[in-house]
Amino acid sequence: MIETPEFAPDIAGALNWARARIAIVDARILLRHVLQCSAARLAAYPEARLEEREWSEFRSLVERREVGEPVAYLIGEREFYGRSFMVGPAVLIPRPDTELLIELALAHFGDKPRTRVLDLGTGSGALAVTLALELADADVTAVDRSREALLVAMANAARLKASVSFVLGDWFSHLGGDRYQLIVANPPYVAADDPHLSEGDVRFEPGTALAAGPQGLDDLAAIAAEAPRHLEAGGWLFMEHGYDQAAAVRGLLTDAGFSSIASWKDLGGIERVSGGQWQGRGESR
Ligand code: GLN
Repeated sequence: MIETPEFAPDIAGALNWARARIAIVDARILLRHVLQCSAARLAAYPEARLEEREWSEFRSLVERREVGEPVAYLIGEREFYGRSFMVGPAVLIPRPDTELLIELALAHFGDKPRTRVLDLGTGSGALAVTLALELADADVTAVDRSREALLVAMANAARLKASVSFVLGDWFSHLGGDRYQLIVANPPYVAADDPHLSEGDVRFEPGTALAAGPQGLDDLAAIAAEAPRHLEAGGWLFMEHGYDQAAAVRGLLTDAGFSSIASWKDLGGIERVSGGQWQGRGESR
C-alpha cells in the first residue's frame, strides 16, 4: 500500500496514491472535479503540484469512494443523453440503459410537434428534461412522490433550460383526468429481497427508487393498469424494467388492453423496455 503523502503531491503522485485504493478512471474523474480541469490538462501536467486544500478535498473524496459512495454523488453530476444532470442521494443516478426510453420516444414522436408527454417517477428529471429538449414544442409533465427528488428535477430543468411542469404525486394520483400521447416511466423494479440492493453503488441510492414488491413488479403493474385512463387514443406507454421481466410486463400490458405490444433491447442486448399502444376503449378497430 502506498503511504498517504503528508504534504500535497503533484498530479502524478496524487493519482498514484489513489489508484491503490479505487479504480483509476474514478480517481481521474474525482481529481478533475477537485481541480476543475479537463482530462487533457490532467494528462499534460503530471508534475503540477496540488494545493493543500485540493489535496485534502481529493483525499476525502477518494476515501468516500473507497467505501462505496457512487462517483456521481461525490461530484454531484452524471451525464445522460449528452447532457449533465445534477444528482444527489435523493435521486437514482441516470443509467445509460435508460437512454433506450429516449430513443423509443424519438422513434415514435420525433417527427410530431407538441406531443403531450408524461414522465412518471422522474427522479433527477433525466427523462422529462431530455424529452422536453429533444421533441419539438413538447408539453412535458413530470411526476414524483418525493419532494426532494422534484427539487433536483426542477433544478435540472432550470439549468438546462427545459420547460417541464412538475407534479408532486403518487403515479397518476394528482393528474385528474389529463390525457397524454406518450407516457414513459423508469419505475422501481428490483425485487425487494434481491441481493443486488445490498451491493456496490446502489446501496447509496434511494431504496424507494429501486425496490418494488416481492418480484419487483408492483409499480410496473400499477402503471400499466392505470395508464389507459391517461392516454389518448393512439398514445404509447413505454416502461423500463429488469433483465428478466420483459415477458411479465408484456403480460401486464396485454391484461390492461394495450396493442402493438413489444420489448426492446438495451446496449447490453437485454430486453429492457416494454411498451404498447392504447387504441381507446370501445372503439372497434
Ligand atoms: N437498473 C437499475 C439497477 O439495477 C434499477 C433501476 C430501477 O429500479 N428503475 O440498479
